[in-house]
Formats: sequence, structure tokens, C-alpha cells
Amino acid sequence: MRVINIVRNLIGGNYRPLPGVDSILRSRGAAPSPLFIERFTNQTDFQNHRAQTNEELAARRQCEGELISSEPQFKTSGFCFACQRLSKFVSSWAFAYPVHGHLQMNWREQLLCPNCRLNNRMRASVHLLAEVVAPTRKSPIYATEQSTPLYRYLQKRFPRLVGSEYLEDGTGLGQTNSAGLRNEDLTKLSFPDAYCGVILTFDVMEHIANYPAAFAECVRVLKPGGKMLFSVPFDAALARNQVRARIGREGRIEHLLAPEYHAHPRNPKGSLCFQRFGWEMFEQLRQTGFRNVWALCYYSLDYGYLGGEQLQFLAEK
Ligand SMILES: [Zn+2]
Repeated sequence: MRVINIVRNLIGGNYRPLPGVDSILRSRGAAPSPLFIERFTNQTDFQNHRAQTNEELAARRQCEGELISSEPQFKTSGFCFACQRLSKFVSSWAFAYPVHGHLQMNWREQLLCPNCRLNNRMRASVHLLAEVVAPTRKSPIYATEQSTPLYRYLQKRFPRLVGSEYLEDGTGLGQTNSAGLRNEDLTKLSFPDAYCGVILTFDVMEHIANYPAAFAECVRVLKPGGKMLFSVPFDAALARNQVRARIGREGRIEHLLAPEYHAHPRNPKGSLCFQRFGWEMFEQLRQTGFRNVWALCYYSLDYGYLGGEQLQFLAEK
């Protein structure tokens, strides 16, 4: 019952229903406790963990249900790790999805901090970068995005950060367009071998049909011991990846399941999701040359990382 314990610790033993942690935090005048991050390397260990945490997950769902408002937009108090201060995270029903006939709030893509413009998932990526990868200010880092609030946030903190987009506007690979955006194809990166110590790629791999080639390119571009921190749509119940679409003969897209498009910063049509990942991804990453792969498992009411249990991934060369 970690959630309840966290709340009890914060308010001194008297459980009181949420919403809002700001008054509790303000009364303490401090940031919340450090984020608890669990690591898993395989499905069996993760399933054992899930079997032991069913009760806690139900408690989390209940807390989250109490935070939801019927308004089209609502705010949830929490501590923004990226801004290092209390914030009122904004959520809406955008990207909601049905579960057993009921619309489920997509917490992963909500809880936007109005100050840094980062949502739940992105703020957590910043947090995991600091806690798990811990780059120095001078670390060479490659991020597979450049026209996003997350890139702008990271650029201020890591002057050697290089970002790119997949432009499809005629700009050559490794070249920069008139808007200052660098064009890269993740399956054919223009960087030399062992170029950087850290790669950041958030919700990109699901949009690449030949993602094993992208994994292989990331291994090549990383220095030995280098780390790739990444997020993808991942179904922890799946042993195999769920292939939704593929490139068939003559380069045509073949849909195996109903097409799923995700929001894209420059394409109003959205970006096709070729696959959702399962544990097979771990073996594929190891086969391409990553020595270690971990699922980083975290949750926090205080930091606004809601959605039952959240997962991002770390692969080490
Ligand atoms: Zn913020």
C-alpha cells in the first residue's frame, strides 16, 4: 500500500482523501520524497511484481478516480520535477480510450505543467534522465526530436545536445533545413560510430516499421557503456510485439489491425503506429548489441506521474 503510505508520511499518519498535495508539501516547505523506481529485465519478474501489487494498483486507481473532474479541463496539484516547483497540472479527456466499455483517462499524455509545457510522460522522462542516466552538463546527447518543448527544455541544460526530426521535406540526411531542424532517419543515422554517451527517444520507435534497424543504429552511435533512455507504447501483458502495420512489397503500407495514428507536431494527420511493444522488444534490443535492458517502473501522486503504473525503458550498450 505504497500510495497510502506516501500520503500518510506526508500528512503525519492521518489519511485524508486527495485531491491535491500542494498544501501538504507547502506545509513541509520541501520537494516530495525521491521517486521510487523499480527495474525489471523480463516478463516473469514483472508478472510476479504485478501479482504482489494488485491491491496497491486498485488503491491508485481509486485515488486517480477522485482527481478526475467532469469539466473538459481540470487541474491537479503536484511537484514538477522539471521546474523544481509546485505546479497545477492540466488534464483533459483528449486521447482517452475505452476499457470494458468505459472511457479511461489517458493520464500518460495528460497532466501538462503550464510552465514547462511537459506532460506526465515527458516530465517523468526528465526525472528518469536525472536519476537513472545522470548525464553531466557537458555530456554529448542525441535526442530524436527537435521541435518540441522537451527538446527546448533539455537544450538549456545540456549545451551539447543534438536533436533531429524526420523531415521528409527534401532536406538531406544529416542536413539542416531553413527552420534550423536537422533531418535524420533513425534507420540510417548520419552520426559516426560511438558518437555520444546518451540517446533519448520518446514515443518514436512505434512509428518506424523497421525498428530493429533503428535499434541497431542507436547501438552503433552510442559509446561503449552508453545509455538509451526511451519510451514506447508497451503492453506488459504481451510476450510478443503487436504488429499493427508493416511495409509490404513495392513499399506500400499494409494494415494488419485498425490504423492507429498518434499526434505529431508537424503533421495534422498524425503519425501511423506500426507496432505496440511487448517483452519481445527486450530480446530484440539485446540481439542488436545492447548488453542490458531494463523496464523502469514508477508511479507518484506527488510528482503527477499517474496512470496506475508507468513504464519507460533503459538500454545500455
Ligand atoms: Zn514544469
